[in-house]
Amino acid sequence: MVFCPYCYKVHTNYWRLRLHWRMHEPFECDVCYDTFKTLSDLRDHHISLHRELPFDLPFRPVSVEREE
Ligand SMILES: [Zn+2]
Ligand SMILES: [Zn+2]
Repeated sequence: MVFCPYCYKVHTNYWRLRLHWRMHEPFECDVCYDTFKTLSDLRDHHISLHRELPFDLPFRPVSVEREE
């Protein structure tokens, strides 16, 4: 048995806990499904690991912003 450190809800295994964590960490990587607490964490992860920006997020690529 494992329990969530955020809300103390009990889960039968670690995999279920990981799924549950998405509730608390809504910023999910669309490539590897890792989750992050903040949007900037996700963006940093995406840029460093996948070499690109996430798709459906409320910001535009840095290159586009700089052109304007
Ligand atoms: Zn929880
Ligand atoms: Zn990822």
